[in-house]
Amino acid sequence: MKLHFHGAARTVTGSLHIVETARGEIVLLDCGLFQGRRAEARERNTTLPIEPARVKAVLLSHAHIDHIGNLPTWAARGLRCPVYGTAATVDLAALLLRDSAHIQVLDALHINRKYRRGEESVVPLYQPEDAERAIALLRGSPYREWFDVLPGLRTRFSDAGHILGSASITLEERANGSAKRLAFTGDAGRPDSPILKDPEPFPAGADVVISECTYGDRDHPPQHELPEELRRILYRTVARGGRVIIPAFAVGRTQTLMYALRELHDAGKLPELPVYVDSPLATGATEVFTRHPECYDAAAMAALRQDGSIFALNGFTATRSTEESKALNDKREPCVIIAASGMCEAGRILHHLERGLGNPRNTILMVGFQAENTLGRRLADGLKTVRVFGQEQFVRAEVVALDGFSAHAGQSELAAYLERCRGNGPLFLVHGEEPRALAFKEFIQRRGFADVRIPGQGEEFKV
Ligand code: ZN
Repeated sequence: MKLHFHGAARTVTGSLHIVETARGEIVLLDCGLFQGRRAEARERNTTLPIEPARVKAVLLSHAHIDHIGNLPTWAARGLRCPVYGTAATVDLAALLLRDSAHIQVLDALHINRKYRRGEESVVPLYQPEDAERAIALLRGSPYREWFDVLPGLRTRFSDAGHILGSASITLEERANGSAKRLAFTGDAGRPDSPILKDPEPFPAGADVVISECTYGDRDHPPQHELPEELRRILYRTVARGGRVIIPAFAVGRTQTLMYALRELHDAGKLPELPVYVDSPLATGATEVFTRHPECYDAAAMAALRQDGSIFALNGFTATRSTEESKALNDKREPCVIIAASGMCEAGRILHHLERGLGNPRNTILMVGFQAENTLGRRLADGLKTVRVFGQEQFVRAEVVALDGFSAHAGQSELAAYLERCRGNGPLFLVHGEEPRALAFKEFIQRRGFADVRIPGQGEEFKV
C-alpha cells in the first residue's frame, strides 16, 4: 500500500492521511478541519487532494474537530463510503459535526454583516445538511476487534486514552500472499488520565508507524498534583471574592474538570461555590460520556457504581440559553465558569473574558493546548494587554496555565508508549509544530528508533 501525507504535516491541525491499497482503493485516515488564519484555512479545507467519490472507507481516530471536521465538505462533494470510528467516537462526531456546521453558518453571517457590506458575500464552508450527510455515513465498531474495511483490508481500534472513544488505528492489507501493516496513533493520551483508560499499545511490528508529537519537546507535570492545584486556585480566588473563568474544550476537558471538581467535593476539599458549565455543546458531550462507560477506567467505574454518575455534584448548573449565559455576568458571588472555546477563539468564553479580564480578583485558568496566534496562547504567554472582540483589554486577572490537564502524552510518555508498540519500519511524526517534531525526533532516535521522519504535506511513502 501507499501512504500520502496531507493534513497535520508539520502542524497540529487538519489531520488527514490517505492510504492507497495495492488494488488502488483509497482509504482516509481522519478527515480533519484545518484551523488557522481564515484565508489559509478556507483554501486548505476546500482544496481536496482526491475525488471524494473515489474514497472506499474513512477511519476516524477520534472525534476532535481537527480529525473529523472536514467530513461534511467531503460528503457535500460526493463522499458516500462508510466512515468508521468507535461507538463513542460516532456519538461524539454526530454532536460535533452538527455544532461545526452551525459555527460555519454563523461565522459567514458574521463576516458578511461586519465586513462585507455591498461586497460579494462569504458562503459557509458547509451547511447543516452536509453535516447530516456525513453523519449518515458513520459506523461504530468496538475496540480490539479486527473488522474488514474492504476485501483484503482489515482494521482494529486500540484505546488511545486521549478523549472518550479515541483510538489508534491498525490497518492490515493482505495482497500477493503477504501482509503489510500500518499503525496510526491518532492522538495519544496520557497514562492515569481521569475517567479514561490508559493508552493501550497497538499491535507491535507494523511496517510503518505514524505518530502524533503535539508535545514532543516537553513533559507535563505529574497529573496527581492537579486536583491539589485546582483546590488552591479555587480557595485563593474565593478569598479574593473573584470568579474562576476556565476556557475549556467542550469535549473532554470540560468533563475532566467536572470530574476533578466532583472528586474534590467528595473529599470535602471544595469550597462552597456554584459551578456553571456555560456551553450547550459541553452539556451534550457530558451526556455522551454517560452513555459510554465502556471507556471508563476502574476509578470512574467505582464512582459510577457509587453515585450513579461520574459527574454528580450539587451546585453544577448547565446553562442552555444565551440569556442564562448573559445572566452569569450579573452575579456577584464567587463562582466557577467553564465555557468554550478552549483556545478563546470563539464562543461564550469571550463574553466572560471581556467582563472578567480586567478584574484582579478573578482567575483565568488555562487548561488546554493553546495554538499559535490564538487569544488563549497570548493569555497563557502572560501578555498584559489582549484584544477581545476587537477591543484592547488590560489583563488584570490572575492567569494560571495548568499544563498537566493535557489530553496528549508528553515527550517521555509518548516515547514509552511507542516503545511498547514498536514497528519494523519507519516512524513518521505528524501532528506537531515543526520545532516540537524535530525535538521529538532527536529524543526518540536516542532511544533506538533508527528511521524517524517528519513528512511534509503531500509527501508519499510506499509501505
Ligand atoms: Zn485530539
